[in-house]
Amino acid sequence: MPDLFVDGEWCAPAAGGRREIRCPADGSLVGEVDEATADDTRAAVAAAHRAFHTGPWPGTSARERGDLLLRVADLLVRDKAALARMESLDTGKRLVESEYDIDDIVGVFRHYGRIAAEEAGRVVDTGNPDVVSRIVHEPVGVCGLIAPWNYPLLQVAWKVAPCLAAGNTFVLKPSELTPHTAIHLMRLLTEAGLPAGVGNLVLGAGPDAGAPLAEDPRVDLVSFTGGLATGRRLMAAAAGTVKKVALELGGKNPNIVFADADLEVALDFALTAVFLHSGQVCSAGARLLVEESVHDSFVDALVDRAGRIRLGGPFDDKAETGPLTSAAHRDKVEAYVAAGLAEGAVLRCGGRRPDDAEQPELADGYYYLPTVLDGCRSDMSVTQDESFGPVLTVETFTDEDEAVRIANDSIYGLAGAVWTQDAGKGQRVAGRLRMGTVWINDYHPYVPQAEWGGFKQSGTGRELGLAGLEEYRETKHVWHNIRPAEQRWFAG
Ligand code: NAD
Repeated sequence: MPDLFVDGEWCAPAAGGRREIRCPADGSLVGEVDEATADDTRAAVAAAHRAFHTGPWPGTSARERGDLLLRVADLLVRDKAALARMESLDTGKRLVESEYDIDDIVGVFRHYGRIAAEEAGRVVDTGNPDVVSRIVHEPVGVCGLIAPWNYPLLQVAWKVAPCLAAGNTFVLKPSELTPHTAIHLMRLLTEAGLPAGVGNLVLGAGPDAGAPLAEDPRVDLVSFTGGLATGRRLMAAAAGTVKKVALELGGKNPNIVFADADLEVALDFALTAVFLHSGQVCSAGARLLVEESVHDSFVDALVDRAGRIRLGGPFDDKAETGPLTSAAHRDKVEAYVAAGLAEGAVLRCGGRRPDDAEQPELADGYYYLPTVLDGCRSDMSVTQDESFGPVLTVETFTDEDEAVRIANDSIYGLAGAVWTQDAGKGQRVAGRLRMGTVWINDYHPYVPQAEWGGFKQSGTGRELGLAGLEEYRETKHVWHNIRPAEQRWFAG
């Protein structure tokens, strides 16, 4: 069966392209999928455009659209085991992590299913009793949705659920590395009753299958999650047709540990903050800022535990984290660490691939050991650039002001955390951090009810929460004069 989904039909790409998908854990072949070119994407845009301008979907009630999302949530629950397995094979992440991801995805569909009909608009008091003035929300139109490979279906869900709740049509382009769960989602949307043409899927490389979404005048909004360089390119391409652009980009997220924190808990979370999914998390706490007075004992203990993290494939019950997504990505992480060492960072653990003799089963995967670089400073590339790998840099500070200054010294502003038992200090620091999410005495949790997104070059706009729905809505003012009478502005 072909893998592109256009106008309610599964179809093969016009040029017949195919791509092998390999599991990053051992290089084994997971499957082969169709690969679209720009012509296929333009055909998908045409279908989404027709469905928006002549089809029934934008005119359905918000409640009906919400009900459809709730049915999708139930279907995701039904297919959870199969979806989690697909996600783990495509990404190499542990099965249990993929299972958590599917639970989160169900939560996202349920959230937008429930709020689709909320915030329907408002009545404005114009001061004129002969006027009824309403603010209404309408769908933006045709949306191009482009997603990355680290949380493939989760990032897709953050876009598809609010996009449909608001009554839009879409063309989805998941990462070319991890397409399988997106293909399955299209089947579930169809099973739940989504009309033909409303949801379309193209697979393939970004510059071929994705770029036309930013350029095409028939696309009204492009929502992109991925790297900063691609985000900049898309924003420039979208400027040609002045479309709405929502960008969820990278981060270099500070995890600030004050000496008065519960240091055992802070240490445990410092590991999860950066090494979860081998650091391939946009909000990874990859930049540890630790108060100088506790630096030595804290970092010694952290290095000890980091050195004992067990790597392994998705179905290895003893594995604690998995591989990097590709050989090319591992090369990037290696170059990043080498640059840090050249700048004077001190390697405390990791800094290399695992030893094939110790764990021969890892030999064919793209593994990299959890790495701690101590003695870092704000002016080094390793504290400024996103590695998107299992690499923690360590810097020290002596007081609250210095911690805030170092933490904000970044082009990014996605997320950060502060650890202290002084509640006032926690709130003060949180208030001064220029980031879209700040955790106090925690790291990584999120809920679909709360907005997610970045300050500065971590992006524009928000996903999740009510703002995540607003992103996909236009606002219209309807003014109704209920007692029209001649005005005679022009007397003649
Ligand atoms: P990427 O930018 O390489 O690719 C992301 C998507 O964009 C893929 O689907 C890719 O095919 C597509 N793409 C690439 N070039 C394109 C082009 N010229 N035109 C249109 N589409 C194009 O990013 P990635 O390597 O897949 O993902 C990792 C990045 O994503 C990291 O920087 C990470 O921080 C970021 N990310 C951010 C968030 C967030 O919520 N802020 C979440 C997850 C990942």
